[in-house]
Amino acid sequence: MQPFYLQQPLRFSCTRCGECCATAGEYYVYLNQGESERIREYLQLSRGWFRRRYLRRLEEGERVLVSAADERCIFLNSDGSCRVYPVRPLQCRSYPFWPELVNSATAWQRESRRCEGINRGPEVARGKIERCVQACQQYEQD
Ligand code: SF4
Ligand code: SF4
Repeated sequence: MQPFYLQQPLRFSCTRCGECCATAGEYYVYLNQGESERIREYLQLSRGWFRRRYLRRLEEGERVLVSAADERCIFLNSDGSCRVYPVRPLQCRSYPFWPELVNSATAWQRESRRCEGINRGPEVARGKIERCVQACQQYEQD
């Protein structure tokens, strides 16, 4: 069966509600070495300071951003903007066009309860969704 996003156009328009940047103790923002370096350089911080202040390792060894005390991403500003927007990780750049969300109608509709931009606004070009899906799949293999 074809992936859901190939069966019908998907609509999306971000309202900047910031909900996808809320980890709520359940989600993590994963980043690889290159993404970590780009953010560190963007913030012009030393490696040690950046690692201690902004990164943590999960039990399995994955590198993730720490959450603020309110369980939101440490880089989420109070106005809903991202402090590291130009260098944000792929996970953030590709949301909500993750394979596990756009391949299934059920998953896409379920995610719309979290992200109010889903099913809002204009149809998204299929090529854009495909690029996100492929980038996520490539990331998983690296
Ligand atoms: S949850 Fe959806 S609408 Fe809200 S900021 Fe994230 S992408 Fe935009
Ligand atoms: S890095 Fe930016 S876009 Fe990604 S979760 Fe944090 S605040 Fe949101």
